[in-house]
Amino acid sequence: MQNVSDELFDVIIVGGGVMGSATAYHASKRGLKTLLIEQFDFLHHRGSSHGESRTIRANYSKPYYYPLVMESYTLWQQVQAQIGYNVYFPAHQLDMGHAHDHTLLKILENCSNHGIPHEVLNRCQLAEKFSGRIDFPDDSIGILNEFGGVIKATKAVAMFQTLAHKNGAVLKDNKEITDIKKDERGVVVVSASNNETFRGKKCVVTVGAWMSKLKDERGVVVVSASNNETFRGKKCVVTVGAWMSKLVKKVSGVEIPIKPVEIHVFYWRVKEGHEGDFAIGGDFPTFSSHGGVHVFGTPSLEYPGLVKIVVDSGDKCDPDKREWGPGVRMNELKEWIKESFNGLVDWREPVVKQACMYSMTPDNDYVVDFLGGQFGKDVVVGGGFSGHGFKMAPVIGRILAELAVDGVPSGGTDISPFGIGRFNNSQK
Ligand SMILES: Cc1cc2nc3c(=O)[nH]c(=O)nc-3n(C[C@H](O)[C@H](O)[C@H](O)COP(=O)(O)OP(=O)(O)OC[C@H]3O[C@@H](n4cnc5c(N)ncnc54)[C@H](O)[C@@H]3O)c2cc1C
Repeated sequence: MQNVSDELFDVIIVGGGVMGSATAYHASKRGLKTLLIEQFDFLHHRGSSHGESRTIRANYSKPYYYPLVMESYTLWQQVQAQIGYNVYFPAHQLDMGHAHDHTLLKILENCSNHGIPHEVLNRCQLAEKFSGRIDFPDDSIGILNEFGGVIKATKAVAMFQTLAHKNGAVLKDNKEITDIKKDERGVVVVSASNNETFRGKKCVVTVGAWMSKLKDERGVVVVSASNNETFRGKKCVVTVGAWMSKLVKKVSGVEIPIKPVEIHVFYWRVKEGHEGDFAIGGDFPTFSSHGGVHVFGTPSLEYPGLVKIVVDSGDKCDPDKREWGPGVRMNELKEWIKESFNGLVDWREPVVKQACMYSMTPDNDYVVDFLGGQFGKDVVVGGGFSGHGFKMAPVIGRILAELAVDGVPSGGTDISPFGIGRFNNSQK
C-alpha cells in the first residue's frame, strides 16, 4: 500500500549531488518548503559529486559559460562565508596546447571579449615563469590568468545540505524515486500567504477584480519512492546526474541523450624536496592541456605531496552496473606527465585512484529546462553537466530553484543553450 504524505512541499528536489543540494539551498533560503531526496546515503561515492577537488576556471571556449562562472566565483565565496569554512581555494589557471589549437584560440577570444587580464607564454617564458616545473613542446603556448582555483567537492555538497537544513529544508536519503507524476486524485490545493494549505475535490474562484493576480499552480506533482512512500510538491526539480536519461524516460517517455561515462581521478607523487613547488597557495596553477590527450589537474591540496592529474575521457557505463575499471589512456597520460613536469612528478604509477561519472550530452552543453509534456513547467530538469558542472553548482542551483518557482531565471540569465529541444534532431 502506498504511504502518501499529506504534507505539500513547495519544491521537491530529486537527487542529492551538488546540483540538487545547491538547489535545495537556494529554494530553502527563499523560505520555500523544500524536500531533498537522495537514493543512496548523502555524500556517497557512486555518482559525480564526491571526492576531494574540482577545478573552477573562467577559461571557456563557449561564451555563454562566462557569466555563469563569474557569478559562481561570487556565490562560492558568499555561501562559504555563511557556513564559516572554506570550500573554494584560489589559484591561477593555465591552458596549454598547440598555438593553433581551436579550443585555445576560442579561450583567447573569450579572454579578450571579456577583458580578462591574461598572459600568453611560449616555452621559454613558461619555463621562466614556473622555474622549470612546467614544460611543453616548442610550437605550443600557455594562456595564464588569475581565474582558476579548486573547490573541495564533498565538503561543498555537505555545505549546501547543511545550510539547506538550517533554512528548514527536509533532507531524506536512501530513498530511490521510481516515479514522478501529476496528482491523479483530482485534489485541488489552495495555499494561503501564511503558508497554510487547504485541499478540496473542487474549487470555485470568486475573487472578482483580483482574478488575474491569483497564482495558478496548475496542480501537484507526486513523487514515489521504491519503498512505496510518496511525497507531494507543487514543483519538482530532477537532478539525478548519470541516472537522468533512465528516470526521465521512465516517467515521461522523453529521451534526453545524456550518456554516463566512467572517469578515473589519479594522484601522482611529487619528487621529494619539491612538494611545496606544486602546492596550492603558491604559484602553481590549475591546468588543462588541449589537443591530443586532454589532460587537466590541480595543485596539491588534499593529499600533501600529491598532484591530481586526470585524462578527460572514459568509457561509457551503466550507473547501476559500474565496471570500476582501470581508467583509459593511461600510457598517454604517463607520457604526458613525464614530458610536462621535467621529471619532478613521478609518472610511473599513480598513488591514489578514485572513480567517478560524467553525464555527457552530444554537444557537451548542460540540460537546464522544463520537462514539458504533461508536466508543463511543474517539473524542471538539471543534468548533462558533461564533466564541467561542479564549479557552476551555486548558479545552477539558483537557476533551477527560480525556474521551478518563478518560471524564469532572474537577472536575464541566458539558459537558451541548455534547452531539451535542441536534441530533437540529434542522435538518441
Ligand atoms: C572525475 C571528475 C572530475 C570532474 N572535474 C570537474 C572539474 O574540475 N570542474 C567542474 O566544474 N566539474 C567537474 N566534474 C563534473 C562535476 O563533478 C559534475 O558535473 C557534477 O558533480 C554533477 O553533479 P550532479 O548533482 O548533476 O550529479 P550527481 O553528483 O551524480 O548527483 C545526482 C544524484 O542523484 C541521485 N539519484 C539518481 N537517481 C535517483 C533517484 N531515482 N532517486 C533519488 N536520487 C537519485 C544519485 O544517487 C546522485 O547522488 C568532474 C566530474 C568527475 C566525475
